Amino acid sequence: MISYEQALEKLLADVPQPKIVRVPLEAARGKVLACSVLADLDLPPFRKSFVDGYAVRSQDAPRAPVQLQVVGTVAAGSQDQPKIGPGQTVQIMTGAPVPPEADAVQMVEKVRQVKPDLVELQEPVTSGQHIADQANEMKVGDIALTQGSVINSSELGVLATFGQSEVEIYDFPKVAIMTTGDEIVDIAEKPGFSQIRNSNAFMLWSQCADLNLEATVFPVVPDNPDSTKKAILKGLECDLLLLTGGVSMGKYDYVHQVLGQLDIDICFHKAAIKPGKPLLVGRKADRMIFGLPGNPVSAFVTFELFVRPAVRQWMGFSAPNAPKVFGRLLEAVRHKPGKKFFKPARAIWIGDSFEVEPINTKGSADLTGFSAANALLVLAPEVVELKAGETVELILLNRYFDEGDQ
Ligand code: AMP
Ligand code: MG
Repeated sequence: MISYEQALEKLLADVPQPKIVRVPLEAARGKVLACSVLADLDLPPFRKSFVDGYAVRSQDAPRAPVQLQVVGTVAAGSQDQPKIGPGQTVQIMTGAPVPPEADAVQMVEKVRQVKPDLVELQEPVTSGQHIADQANEMKVGDIALTQGSVINSSELGVLATFGQSEVEIYDFPKVAIMTTGDEIVDIAEKPGFSQIRNSNAFMLWSQCADLNLEATVFPVVPDNPDSTKKAILKGLECDLLLLTGGVSMGKYDYVHQVLGQLDIDICFHKAAIKPGKPLLVGRKADRMIFGLPGNPVSAFVTFELFVRPAVRQWMGFSAPNAPKVFGRLLEAVRHKPGKKFFKPARAIWIGDSFEVEPINTKGSADLTGFSAANALLVLAPEVVELKAGETVELILLNRYFDEGDQ
């Protein structure tokens, strides 16, 4: 059986090359920019005021107080550029174009109104004060965003600034989610004896949404070779097929067998990990199939460990893997050596480091127990015990960021 590291390396070597698509700006959210974007205008496009106040010639106010005659007003968006002569000033608003004769702005808080058309500056001004020169941030033709940037909220704002109503991004896989099992019933049903509700479909759909992926959930696939084959062929109309269940060694686990019949290249089947040992990954042309174990915790964890980095690489992220972080164990953890162990845990940031509390659950079916976790703690295959106080590797889950500081 291959190790976690070997499995991940094999998987990432097998992920199809990202393709480029042009999409409306809104659809680019959370995706990766496929080409650099150049500024289509100077930023700021004109010399503008940073504050609400009075535009002045600095030689008129080298000392304060000084009284100036108000000869006009410039609002943001105004086309007017009133002339400012010696001893004169113009009232100006934040973001408005500064009249050419002025080389400074005094903020309104430092100006006293004497008469309707006369103000007194309480402090002297220096040339350039509170003025943003044209193109001081960026010149037309400069690179505004480089290829490979992740398009989050601020990048979306930058793209909007430069009029990019459509952008080229790396295409993202269309996902099909299929759950297998004769025992699985719809969540609206009250399960009969020996039946269980389909939790995996919803959980995986949500994990896809965390990656800004849309996923289609298909009807449950019964445990027989014909239905499994039909379902897989249907699922392969999408780029990425996530199956759960039917990948273990049970008499009615047909996924592996059917993939063989359909000429799907197996990247690997089974990895030395706990939970999630039966994981199966296959590829056909530019399509990928993940056979995730049926147990909900195993399905969740194998998605985070393998599907997530594969999808991120497919979407053009330059660093597909989760960042490596470490913390200090609050309690000892024991482990039967052999497989790399990903144990649910709570990570708490205290002072300047993580403290890690292991969570004991009833195993890989216990999604309720697992739901308290905001991290996975990682034990190498050979480790038998880590004592309280020792350093442990952590994978932070989305929940950690949703919860914020505890
Ligand atoms: P399997 O991998 O098909 O052997 O399933 C392992 C365990 O996971 C069994 O107890 C299944 O009943 C359970 N299981 C399989 N699919 C699902 C699902 N979609 N939702 C919840 N539990 C499931
Ligand atoms: Mg099953």
